[in-house]
Amino acid sequence: MIQLSGITKSYKVGKESFDVLKDIHLTIEEGEFISIMGPSGSGKSTLMNIIGCLDRPTTGHYFLDGEDVAAYQDTDLAKVRNLSIGFVFQQFQLLPRLTALKNAELPMVYAGVKKKEREERAMLALEKVGLADRMNHLPNELSGGQKQRVAIARSIVNKPRLILADEPTGALDTKTSVSVMEQFAALNVEGTTVIIVTHEQEVADYTKRIIMVRDGEVQSHGAERRNA
Ligand code: ATP
Ligand code: MG
Repeated sequence: MIQLSGITKSYKVGKESFDVLKDIHLTIEEGEFISIMGPSGSGKSTLMNIIGCLDRPTTGHYFLDGEDVAAYQDTDLAKVRNLSIGFVFQQFQLLPRLTALKNAELPMVYAGVKKKEREERAMLALEKVGLADRMNHLPNELSGGQKQRVAIARSIVNKPRLILADEPTGALDTKTSVSVMEQFAALNVEGTTVIIVTHEQEVADYTKRIIMVRDGEVQSHGAERRNA
């Protein structure tokens, strides 16, 4: 599904140039359930942003279904992102003035889906994460785990093939993390490819492959393994 070949990312700070990602080679197959681990500052979020087409590599190739998307125009890259990738973030990133339902509708607004269908699909997604009874609540009327489940509902409304979650349980207690990871596991069983950045081994244990990043390099790809 995805192939990264010789990906680097450098930032210029003052006169100095920092290589944040160094020659990354990585293949991700459709249907995988992966965690990315590694020390703070090692380049995990940078790598996720590149996989998610939110950012471009400095050099190297990114093949999506065999096509080099690193060469795409910004608008085409945004299309790929909107239609095939769902995002979940550590701090949920819900809009505070919108209800759970309206928040879940957002990616469809960007994709130009009509209002009625938006509502139907957002409701189904909220049902799926067990929050149908909270759809008219504002984010500050929800618990942390509920907020993250709204964010998961939002990430799946466009039926993405790939879900990218950067420390999705970082702000949650253990019990709530378990329920969030169960949602991701269920989506993966349905065929969605899921990649999660995490510092927690308990979270990584839900996934089938662990990719270790250190100093901008992929240290170990991890073999496909059975769910713990
Ligand atoms: P954490 O676990 O703390 O989230 P991370 O592995 O996700 O860390 P990144 O956010 O990918 O790390 O950052 C990797 C390195 O790149 C860091 O040293 C950071 O300072 C640097 N970096 C990230 N974004 C920029 C930027 N826009 N300009 C300059 N340097 C940057
Ligand atoms: Mg990070």
